[in-house]
Amino acid sequence: MNTYNLMLIDPHVHMTSRTTDDYERMRQAGIMAIIEPAFWLGQPRTEAGAFKDYFSSLVGWERFRASQFGIKHYCTIGLNSKEANNEALAEQVMELLPLFVCKEGVVGVGEIGYDDQTVAEDKYYRLQLELAKEVNLPVQIHTPHRDKKAGTIRSMEVSLEHGIAPDMVIVDHNNEETVKDVLDRGFWAAFTIYPNTKMGNERMVEIVKQYGSERIMVNSAADWGISDALSVPKTASLMLERGISLEDVRKVCYQNALGAFGKSGQMHESDWLAASPIDQREKFSGSSVLRGGQTPVVGEKIIPSGELDSNIVR
Ligand SMILES: [Zn+2]
Repeated sequence: MNTYNLMLIDPHVHMTSRTTDDYERMRQAGIMAIIEPAFWLGQPRTEAGAFKDYFSSLVGWERFRASQFGIKHYCTIGLNSKEANNEALAEQVMELLPLFVCKEGVVGVGEIGYDDQTVAEDKYYRLQLELAKEVNLPVQIHTPHRDKKAGTIRSMEVSLEHGIAPDMVIVDHNNEETVKDVLDRGFWAAFTIYPNTKMGNERMVEIVKQYGSERIMVNSAADWGISDALSVPKTASLMLERGISLEDVRKVCYQNALGAFGKSGQMHESDWLAASPIDQREKFSGSSVLRGGQTPVVGEKIIPSGELDSNIVR
């Protein structure tokens, strides 16, 4: 736990690409729960089976792996915008999605939306909005990094066109240019804090000072690129240092993520407050997180801090 005894949620992190070191450090910094959106993997997929195994891993192996470090793992399932451009494959993935969206631990359809804002991206975005509506799940929107403002507004307008309530939509990767449009329309505004970029945690502090804490949340979007799995605790720490109230920090780094994705009915605070203690002797399909001769952590709610300071690191 961190110095402030503050529980945290990272509502957008691709743990599949991260190491057990990240899980340990995240838990030590107070992260109780995470949401892993389905995404692209760098290497384009060529078979529907690759998606099937990936989705299975998000609801299976990765959920188990997180539990071995005392973190509750949830995911959102969807066809990402970039790979929606491979239409032959996209058609097959669309048939897989209904098999996964109702599985345990799935808290939304995501991350979906626009990348290059192509016709195919629009088509599969709309189809997945319909799916989300049908199964009554929140939608996690990936907004484009190019032409961001127009793409963000378009993402919201299309979801409204499909009759999705704004409070069921988490619009991700916001910045100073988009935040007002998102909040004014009643959507959730999520911010990704990447290291060494303009949307760093210094800028995030200013956004919370200006816009408050309602419907705003912070995530790391840590994946296989240069990113930081501790972005949420680091931002929380900086916000407190800069005089933002503990209550506001709790909303932005914990409560709002729970409020938004809790609408799935799949995510409750009791999931981690009343979680079974860690037992690293457990296996999933015969696999364990332990390697030869390692001593399993058993019966602990929080993993030992090892050489790492248990305070929030920066
Ligand atoms: Zn992502």
